[in-house]
Amino acid sequence: MKIVLQNLTKAFPSRNKKSNEEVIAVNNFNFEIPDGKLIGLLGPSGCGKSTTLYMISGLQKPTSGRIFFGDDDVTELSTENRGIGLVFQNYALYPHMTVKQNIMFPLQNLKGEDKLTKEQMLERAYQAAKLVQIEQLLDRKPSELSGGQQQRVAIARALVKMPRVLLLDEPLSNLDARLRLQTREEIRRIQQETKITTVFVTHDQEEAMSISDMIVVMKAGIVQQIGKPQDVYDDPANLFVAKFLGTPPINVFDGQVKDGKLYIGSDEVLEFSGVADQAVTVGIRPEGFVLSENGALKCKPVNVEVMGRDVSVVATHDASQNPFVRSIIDADNKVDTGSEYVRYNIKPHKIFIFNKETEERIYFEVK
Ligand code: ADP
Ligand code: MG
Repeated sequence: MKIVLQNLTKAFPSRNKKSNEEVIAVNNFNFEIPDGKLIGLLGPSGCGKSTTLYMISGLQKPTSGRIFFGDDDVTELSTENRGIGLVFQNYALYPHMTVKQNIMFPLQNLKGEDKLTKEQMLERAYQAAKLVQIEQLLDRKPSELSGGQQQRVAIARALVKMPRVLLLDEPLSNLDARLRLQTREEIRRIQQETKITTVFVTHDQEEAMSISDMIVVMKAGIVQQIGKPQDVYDDPANLFVAKFLGTPPINVFDGQVKDGKLYIGSDEVLEFSGVADQAVTVGIRPEGFVLSENGALKCKPVNVEVMGRDVSVVATHDASQNPFVRSIIDADNKVDTGSEYVRYNIKPHKIFIFNKETEERIYFEVK
């Protein structure tokens, strides 16, 4: 089931009594979510992710714009009639019910020709439990389960009605780091097995990058970029997206374009064409640095952090906007932190330049 969001907008009245300015939580969102794909909706807290998800679910009504499931306009349809499964950050299970009863719960309200017998409900609950691998836990109460198991119950409950669309709002945030990893792989597996079109909301870029077919990066209600995770990482549309994706984060410098050359401070780091002389903001991915005796970018080394196969060199540069410049290089390279400079050449496809005011990407051709 493809989902089409058409000029989707949500404005809330101001919470601040003194100002009447409304909050545009989601601003003119246009996107066609392909059938059977997992979409990661990504951005910092307050950027409008949940509001978007609630509009898709019908829990919130758009101020303007339309929502289609396939060819059906569902904008006015109630949540119950949309055929969706919802999972939230807090598992919201009924504490007095067993796992089985919790999973079966959504089936008990089915009416008319959808009505199921007790045996059919039990079978459906069992199949949903099996999908999330908790079929041995059906007779337990939620209090007898770990956080990860509780979240699986919540996912099984969302799947039991065989929804057309699965909507997940920060479903892993309450889990510890290891469970988070494991559960996100589970969600990916379940999604690929069931082929249910899924929207996965998270503020965690690594999470979104690792499980999504496509990511949508949002900022202040406005979609910044949509694409395959690797494409967005390799080709960010603006400084916000470049900074939001990647660990360690991108290194940001004040730069200057002059006569087809890019300068960071007085270091001439790249020669290109197609860009007029101007002050720019420069982003360099940590993996974009190549150690070289005569390297163009001269940084002062501070520390070397060993990370197994790679090392991270921490250094400083006067034109850096952050306290430290972080590069990731092969552990075979030796860096002497006692020396005056560590010098790098920069891989041209790992360096991006942005307009100083608009922060939009400026594209160049490497000579
Ligand atoms: P996210 O899920 O990305 O953290 P939300 O969609 O929850 O963001 O919120 C987006 C913006 O809308 C925020 O500024 C938030 O304060 C505002 N907002 C969300 N819900 C309401 C509401 N019911 N009333 C007023 N403002 C709201
Ligand atoms: Mg939210």
